Amino acid sequence: MTQKQPLLGLTLSELQAITKQLSMPLFTAKQMASWLYDKKVKTIDEMTNLSLKHRTLLNELYEVGATAPMHAMSSVDGTIKYLYQVGENSFVEAVYIPDGERATLCVSSQVGCKMNCKFCMTGKQGFTTNLSANQILNQIISLPECDKLTNVVMMGMGEPLDNLDEVLKALEILTAPYGFAWSPKRITLSTVGLKKGLKRFIESCDCHLAISLHSPVPEQRRDLMPAEKAYSITEMVDLLRNYDFSKQRRLSFEYIVFKGVNDSMLYAKELLKLLRGLDCRVNLIRFHAIPNVDLEGVDMDSMVKFRDYLTSHGLFTTIRASRGEDIFAACGMLSTAKQNEKNNI
Ligand code: SF4
Repeated sequence: MTQKQPLLGLTLSELQAITKQLSMPLFTAKQMASWLYDKKVKTIDEMTNLSLKHRTLLNELYEVGATAPMHAMSSVDGTIKYLYQVGENSFVEAVYIPDGERATLCVSSQVGCKMNCKFCMTGKQGFTTNLSANQILNQIISLPECDKLTNVVMMGMGEPLDNLDEVLKALEILTAPYGFAWSPKRITLSTVGLKKGLKRFIESCDCHLAISLHSPVPEQRRDLMPAEKAYSITEMVDLLRNYDFSKQRRLSFEYIVFKGVNDSMLYAKELLKLLRGLDCRVNLIRFHAIPNVDLEGVDMDSMVKFRDYLTSHGLFTTIRASRGEDIFAACGMLSTAKQNEKNNI
C-alpha cells in the first residue's frame, strides 16, 4: 500500500494542483485550506462541505497529517517542552512559553543541525534531516495550546535558512489569508546568517529577523560559531544595512553572555561599533550549561551592567528571561535524551 501524503503543510497553489489532478472544482482547494488551517480538522471526513465523492477520492491518496506530540515536560514556571516524533527514529522539540498575555511557541526547522555552534546541544547531535512544511506546521497545529498562541519564533532545533524552501512554505501558510492569516509581526526567524538564504528570506517575507550574534569580534565568533567562516558578521551587517528595519519589521541580535569570554565592556564597545546606525535591538541571553562544554553563564549583575552600558550608548538592549530551567532548558537537550534512550546509551 502506498503511503498517504499529508495535506497539512501544502500551500493554496499546491492544494489547487491536487484539485486539478483529481478533477475537482478549483474552489475546493480554498475550502480544504479553510478546514486545514482555520478549523484545524484532523481528518478529511470532517471537511463536510466537500462532496462525499471528493472526500472519498482524497482519502484514497491523502490524509490531514497532524500528529500529536509524543511527550511533554512541564516546568514550574508554566513552560512546556513538547517532543514530536519525526519519521521512524528522530525527535524534535517545540517549547511553549506562556507569559502573561503572550504565549510563544519556539519551533524547530531541522532534526539536528549542521552549524555546530560550540554552546548548543542540537549542534552536538549533528545533522539528520530537514523538516518538511508539514512537520514544521504540525508543531503548531498539534500543540494542545495552539489556540492560545500569540507568537511563533523559529529558534528551536536547526538552522531555518538551511531549510529555507520548507520554512518559507510554512511561513506563507502562517501568514496568508487562506492559511492562519497571522500578521508577520507575530513571527520571528532566528538565524546564524547564511549568505545564500539571508537575502532571500528578507526579500520574500516580512517576518521579524533575529541574528545569532554572540560575539562582535569575527575571530571569537568563529570559535563559537563555525558559520562565521563562511559568512562573516561584518559582511552580514553590511547586507542588513540595505534594508529598512525602522518600521513594522524588527531586526534583533541575540547575544548569549559567556563568563570571561564576551562579557567585558570591551565587547560592549565592539558591539556598539558593529551595529552603529542600524535600526535594531540586542537581546542578552543567559547561558544554559550543557554537558562537556567549557562555557559558563554570568550572574544577573553582570548582565544588567552589560545591558545598561549598551542602552546608555543608544543601543536598545533587553535581557531575555530564562524559562523552563528545570526541564532540559537548552535547545536539543530533551531530544538528545530521548534519542539516547532509544539507542540504549
Ligand atoms: S545554535 Fe542553532 S544554528 Fe547553532 S548549532 Fe544550535 S541549532 Fe544549529
